[in-house]
Amino acid sequence: MNLAQLLARSARVFPGRAAVALGAREVYSYGELFHRVAAIAGALRSAVGGCGLQPGDRVALFMANCPEYLELLYGIWHAGLVAVPINNKLHPREVAFILESSAASLLFVAGDRSAAAPMWSDSTPGLRVVSVDEPAYRQLASVAPIDVVARAPDDLAWLFYTSGTTGRPKGVMLSQRNLLAMTLCYFTDVDQATGADSIVYAAPMSHGAGMYNFAHVLVGARHVVPESGGFDVAEIMALSRHYRQVSLFAAPTMVHRLVEHVAEHGVDCSGIKTLVYGGGPMYLEDIRRALAVLGDRLVQIYGQGESPMTITALARQHLADRAHPRYRQRLLSVGVAHSVVEVMVAAADGQPLPVGSAGEVLVRGETVMLGYWRDAEATAATLRDGWLHTGDVGVLDDDGFLTLKDRSKDVIISGGANIYPREVEEVLLRHAAVAEVSVVGRPSAEWGEDVVAFVVCRPAMLAANAELDQLCLESIARFKRPEDYIFVAALPKNNYGKVLKSELRRHWKVIGED
Ligand code: AMP
Repeated sequence: MNLAQLLARSARVFPGRAAVALGAREVYSYGELFHRVAAIAGALRSAVGGCGLQPGDRVALFMANCPEYLELLYGIWHAGLVAVPINNKLHPREVAFILESSAASLLFVAGDRSAAAPMWSDSTPGLRVVSVDEPAYRQLASVAPIDVVARAPDDLAWLFYTSGTTGRPKGVMLSQRNLLAMTLCYFTDVDQATGADSIVYAAPMSHGAGMYNFAHVLVGARHVVPESGGFDVAEIMALSRHYRQVSLFAAPTMVHRLVEHVAEHGVDCSGIKTLVYGGGPMYLEDIRRALAVLGDRLVQIYGQGESPMTITALARQHLADRAHPRYRQRLLSVGVAHSVVEVMVAAADGQPLPVGSAGEVLVRGETVMLGYWRDAEATAATLRDGWLHTGDVGVLDDDGFLTLKDRSKDVIISGGANIYPREVEEVLLRHAAVAEVSVVGRPSAEWGEDVVAFVVCRPAMLAANAELDQLCLESIARFKRPEDYIFVAALPKNNYGKVLKSELRRHWKVIGED
């Protein structure tokens, strides 16, 4: 099997249906899209005049959402290759790490992204960088098309880099089977997508939003890339009025903005069919308000790169069942296990805990990753006894609803993006005056969480906020830079000298402390 078959099938069944649109403008029908994809695949494989890539080779994408995103993903899979979609907001140095780690043979960029190409080619021998804005790209689609290259269910399809807790991103290996299972349970657990729907990519296609393409390709729905390439509330609402049955995935911060926009301007939101939210905690008052303003259009999912978009879901009917005696509790939860996985709450020894007890959330099933790319140690630590150890702490109730309490991996989620404190800490520690630092999340009404750094300076030395900011700007993405620096005399530590982040967070009472 090969995920590229999903597109091949839809192109046969609905060749004339609109497949890709940029804003309100149709770009390709399914028939045209498939033709381009088969030609791009031909160019990727062809040794003569093409790239000469072999099945299993990695091809990276570093670009904002654009119509080319979908044809490249499918071109890569059609050719039997592995896609490495990279967060468009990363710093060129962070991109260099991913390219080197994945040993990518080819990188597609858009806009001004090729400026860093010499640096990337230096660190990743043999890497070729192609901009979709160059004439060379347009020529790819005129190469002779090839048939879909056969793949086995456990072959790697998508290498998804998460920010690593150790300061280095890890490559989550997602197989053909993982992504197909994720896709099929979209229909049972998330939404009944149909060919009359349009999926609008309001969130980055390099992440979960992009993974929802499969369910929509399968039913022959329209894929709409906003012209802004990002998240502009007025634009999304205009697209929903234009296309009518619109589905989108949005992080809680984006939902919050949509709700405020609709409430403030009295905008008609009947064009939104389904708004799937997740990727970070949604506070009770926010979801209540979202339901009041937008109506029963919401579905929540809980997932992580290691079991993409698929651990639990809080379905539309649960969010709408206001008379249920446990309604409030359910709104606070992330719903019930998706149909293709088992979810367990376990003690530190991996044994299941009784209903009502808090423990680590473990997941087993078809969507759980193969492991971390070239990192046997991290794989063994995360996949134990057949269970994925999520690092999230949760509680199950009698009806199987899971409520998340905390994140044991200390990840900060700001605007839906994951920020691992260690990564930021390592950068700040480069400052000569910084003796110790600990980075934690502070609840923020707008972003979910803000990054805050607690800094201990060396005796008789000082670090200016602007200098610390500058260090961050030089090596990590802007969104990871702390909003605030709090200078303290010492950090709270346990007996083993480990910094007690929970103590730091007590400054502003964080998630998990009901
Ligand atoms: P990522 O691997 O980037 O998708 O981040 C996954 C993490 O985001 C999970 O392990 C959770 O800590 C958090 N997360 C995802 N979905 C939800 C949700 N619906 N509610 C609360 N936290 C979530």
